[in-house]
Amino acid sequence: MRLIVYWFRNDLRLEDNPAFSQACIDADVLLPIVIHDTKQDLNTPWGFKRVGLCRRQFEHESITALKIQLQSIGSDLIVLKGSPVEVITETLHKLGAQSVYTQKIEAPEENQDTERLNAMGVDVREFWQSSMLDPADLPFELKSMPESFSRFRQRIEAAKLTYATPVAKPTRVPPLPKNHPESDPFTGGCGTSMALPFKGGAQNAQNHIDQYFLRRLPDTYKKTRNQLMGMDYSSKFSPWLALGCCSARSIAHRLNAYEQQFGANEGTYWLWFELLWRDYFEFLAFKYGKKLFRARGLSDQGSVTFDARSFDQWITGRTENSFINAGMTELSQTGYLSNRMRQIVASYWIYDMQGDWRAGASWFESQLMDYDVYSNVGNWLYIAGRGTDPRGGRHFNVVKQALEHDPDNRYQHHWLRTPL
Ligand SMILES: Cc1cc2nc3c(=O)[nH]c(=O)nc-3n(C[C@H](O)[C@H](O)[C@H](O)COP(=O)(O)OP(=O)(O)OC[C@H]3O[C@@H](n4cnc5c(N)ncnc54)[C@H](O)[C@@H]3O)c2cc1C
Repeated sequence: MRLIVYWFRNDLRLEDNPAFSQACIDADVLLPIVIHDTKQDLNTPWGFKRVGLCRRQFEHESITALKIQLQSIGSDLIVLKGSPVEVITETLHKLGAQSVYTQKIEAPEENQDTERLNAMGVDVREFWQSSMLDPADLPFELKSMPESFSRFRQRIEAAKLTYATPVAKPTRVPPLPKNHPESDPFTGGCGTSMALPFKGGAQNAQNHIDQYFLRRLPDTYKKTRNQLMGMDYSSKFSPWLALGCCSARSIAHRLNAYEQQFGANEGTYWLWFELLWRDYFEFLAFKYGKKLFRARGLSDQGSVTFDARSFDQWITGRTENSFINAGMTELSQTGYLSNRMRQIVASYWIYDMQGDWRAGASWFESQLMDYDVYSNVGNWLYIAGRGTDPRGGRHFNVVKQALEHDPDNRYQHHWLRTPL
C-alpha cells in the first residue's frame, strides 16, 4: 500500500494542479497537508512581522476554502505548524508514509528545506507548476536564458509557444490515513473587510476571473493599467495567482479563448505581456538563485546604510511627500497597491530616501496580499538598477508622477483624508 503526503504550498487549488493530481494517481492513501511555517511569525531584521495582517487573512481564507473543498470530496486538509523539515519528517515517520509530493519553489529558503529533507533520506517529489509557460517548452535552457526581458519576450514570441492544456481536478482523491494528525489551531489576520473586495480561495478566484472576462475588461487594460484607484483598471489576478488559487496557465488559456471569440487587441496583448513578466522573474530565479537576494543583487554597486528613522517614516506614510504617504497608507490598510504606485514608492525609498532596497522589499513581503518571492525581488532589483535591465535603475520624479496620475489629488485625498 502506497501512503503519500501531499504538501500544499503556493498551489492552493485542485483544478490544474498536476502535482496533486499525480499524488492522487500514485497513492493508495493520501494525506493533504499545509504547513504554517513558524519562521513566518518571526520579526524581519528590519523590525516588523514577516507576514502582516492582510496577507495572513487572505492566506487563511484560501486555506479554509481548500479544506472545505477537500472535505466535500471525502478528504481533508490538515494544517500543521512548525518548521517544514521537522513537520514533514515527523509526519512521514508517524504514518509510515514513503514520499512527499509538492510544488517546486525555486527560492533559497524553500530549496534549503528540500535539500535538508533529501539529506535525511526523505523522498521529495517536486513539481514545477507556477508559471504560464512550461520551462520544458522554452527555446533555451533556463540557465542560459536571455538577460533582458525584451530579448526574452522576443525569443518567446518567435517560438510561437502554445500552453499545455490545464489538468482537470482529480476525479478521485485517495482516502486519508486512519491515524492522521489533527490540524493545529490556525488563525487569520485582521478579519475585517478591506477596501478592496478580495477573498481568498479557488472559487473566489474563478468568479473574479469570469467577471473580468465577461465584462470585457481585457479590451481596455492597456489604457487603464497605470491608474491608481478602483477594481477595474487592472485585472487584480495577483493575490490569487500568488497563492496558487488559480494557475497562470489557466488564465493564459482563458485569454486565448477570449481572443478567439472577440479578436486580439492591444489590451489582450498587454495583459499577456504582463503575465510574461511574471514568468520572466520566475525563470530568472533558476539562473541566478541566491544572487538575487544580495544587497548588490546582480550589480557591482555597494550596499547603503540603513536608517531606521527614515524607514519608519516611509512604512508609516509620514514622509515629506503626501503622494508617497497616500501610497504607503493604501498598502498597509488594504494589502494591495497598483503597479504604478509600487514603482513610485519603491523608487522614492531607494533614490529620494537613500534606502536599502532589501528593507523595502521586505516591507512589501509583509504587507502585500499578492506577495510573490519572484515578482517582488525581480521588481525591486529592476527599480534599484541591480537586476538584469540594461537601462540601469528607475528613478521616478514624484512631482511629475503625481501630476500625471493624480492631477486632482483625489488619490491623496482618499487615503490621507485631507480636504480636496
Ligand atoms: C516594487 C514592486 C514589487 C512588486 N511585488 C510584487 C509581488 O510581490 N507580487 C506580485 O504578484 N507582483 C508584484 N509586483 C508586480 C505588479 O505590481 C503586480 O503584479 C500587479 O500590480 C498586480 O495587480 P494586477 O493583478 O491587477 O496586475 P495586472 O496589471 O492586471 O497584470 C496581470 C498580471 O500580470 C502579472 N504582472 C503584472 N505586472 C507585473 C510585474 N511588474 N512583474 C511581474 N508580474 C507582473 C501579475 O501576475 C498580474 O496579476 C511588484 C511590482 C513592483 C514595482
